[in-house]
Amino acid sequence: MTEPTFDTIFDDLVDANAELQSFLATLDALLPEASMLLVSEAGALLEGTRPLTVALPVRDKLVHEARAVDGFVTGKADNGARCHAIHLAKLSAVLIISCAAAPEDDWEPGAAITSLLRNSLELALYRQEREMLVADHEQSIRQINILQQQHGKLIEDNYRQYRLNQDREKEYARKLESEIAKQTAELREANARLEEISRLKSDFLANMSHELRTPMNAIIGFSELLAETPLAEEQRDYARTITQSATSLLTLINDILDLAKIEAGKLELEHLPFELSEVIDNVVAMFKIPAREKGVVVSSKIDSRIPKRMMGDSNRLRQVLVNLAGNAMKFTEKGGVAIEVAYEREAAGRIVGRFSVHDSGIGIPADRVEAIFEKFTQADGSTTRKYGGTGLGLAICLQLVELMGGHLAVTSEEGKGSTFYFVIPLEEAPAEIISLQEHKDAAREKAPAGGRILLVEDNAVNQRLAGILITREGYEVEVASDGTEALEHLRHQAFDLVLMDVQMPNMDGMEATRKIREIEADPALRQSYVGLRSLKQPLAIVGLTAHARKEDETACYDAGMNGFLTKPIIKAKLVTILGEMMPRVSCLENHDPS
Ligand code: ADP
Repeated sequence: MTEPTFDTIFDDLVDANAELQSFLATLDALLPEASMLLVSEAGALLEGTRPLTVALPVRDKLVHEARAVDGFVTGKADNGARCHAIHLAKLSAVLIISCAAAPEDDWEPGAAITSLLRNSLELALYRQEREMLVADHEQSIRQINILQQQHGKLIEDNYRQYRLNQDREKEYARKLESEIAKQTAELREANARLEEISRLKSDFLANMSHELRTPMNAIIGFSELLAETPLAEEQRDYARTITQSATSLLTLINDILDLAKIEAGKLELEHLPFELSEVIDNVVAMFKIPAREKGVVVSSKIDSRIPKRMMGDSNRLRQVLVNLAGNAMKFTEKGGVAIEVAYEREAAGRIVGRFSVHDSGIGIPADRVEAIFEKFTQADGSTTRKYGGTGLGLAICLQLVELMGGHLAVTSEEGKGSTFYFVIPLEEAPAEIISLQEHKDAAREKAPAGGRILLVEDNAVNQRLAGILITREGYEVEVASDGTEALEHLRHQAFDLVLMDVQMPNMDGMEATRKIREIEADPALRQSYVGLRSLKQPLAIVGLTAHARKEDETACYDAGMNGFLTKPIIKAKLVTILGEMMPRVSCLENHDPS
């Protein structure tokens, strides 16, 4: 067996007890002359191969003192020899050692023992540190394991939650999709219903317009004609009253229809050239007589910077001005009513004009200024009794002005007067349109009097009325009751112009017009129609309808008509359109073979 070295001591010391045993064995081997005893702190005794016997009181005293002292304490073994005790704190033990064989031997612990003990102490220190490290390491491993377990569980939980969320999301998306699909279908249905309602409303409006205007047309037309026949003064007065009442009723009907049309979004403004001064003069002329009767002065002024010819809807502009001027006249007893078109500014290359109607009338209380623009609302309850009216005029003006891109407002002082005004952008008519218009105007001047007109109209009252109006203008007139009859007339006779009602039984005006255009385009077919075969240009066809909607006008042009008149036929408009559209050389002068 090889001698143990200090190095091997380190290798051998593994656990506490074995370590102590091994330590003792090493000491035994190193110090063959020494006998020794190791007392652990728990009080346990370990004896070397040469045991040392120390009486218990001596041993306890030695252990006690050694613990208190840093170094050897000396005592006596049972055999009377000197023994030494040292506290090995790192080993948690006290070593009692004696190298004396007999009591008289005077052995003291030498350098080897001290060194051994020092190394033992360091060894014990390393061991402890190692144990601590091992313990720490084990603790770390345990913690790592726990963490790994927790981590694994967390990952698993997360994954489960993720799957759950995914399922939920899928379910939610499915529900959302089906909800959206359902709502889209419902919206589509609602939209279709709304469109249907809107179409019905629009048709209803168109029909109402037709149904109401047709008899009004007859009442006004015939009462006017009646007033022109030889009558007693009282009868003439009755006839005039009928005309006036029917005219106000027609105004009311038109107002209600206009408003319904505007609210249904069906009112489209025209975009045609017109002369502003004509519109203003026309409005002033309308109020000349009532103004003279009342002793009120009506005047007008247009700023020179305002374009003379403009593009837009002159009828709607006139309607607004007539309404405002009408109110001004109605509520003014003395002083004047002034219509003014002023230059406001230029914006985006366009001149912006300010239209105002000023009066010196009763004025409007400040707290009623907003209300008067509402439908069926007047400044105060006594207005209707005193001045008449329905409270619709301003509501319509407001909407029309907004359609024109402006806003209607008023400044007023009770007892002093009011100024209603609106500011709208103005579009100057392009030069080529102006020359076209001038050409038309020139042509109109040259229009010959006389000619033959085919009136296609199913309503007997309207046939008579229109017939009288046309004859009074110096034209010959033939009447057909529907499209089929009209074609028959054209087969046998030449005409300068056809006034074609749109709504008729059997063959309506649209179909009849399309047929006429077809015949004109077919040279063989044309030969059978006296009224069409010798024409140098397409026959002039003017649509006649109580439907005053833009789409009705468009439909007339689409069918092949070249003009459009709304009922009730206004004499001035009829004269204008006939002047524009009658050919320069009438078929009557053309030695027509018919
Ligand atoms: P109507 O004139 O048919 O009553 P409007 O809508 O045109 O309906 O006018 C509504 C109300 O506004 C009138 O009834 C009147 O009370 C008030 N009003 C309108 N214009 C004037 C004005 N120039 N002067 C005083 N009051 C006015």
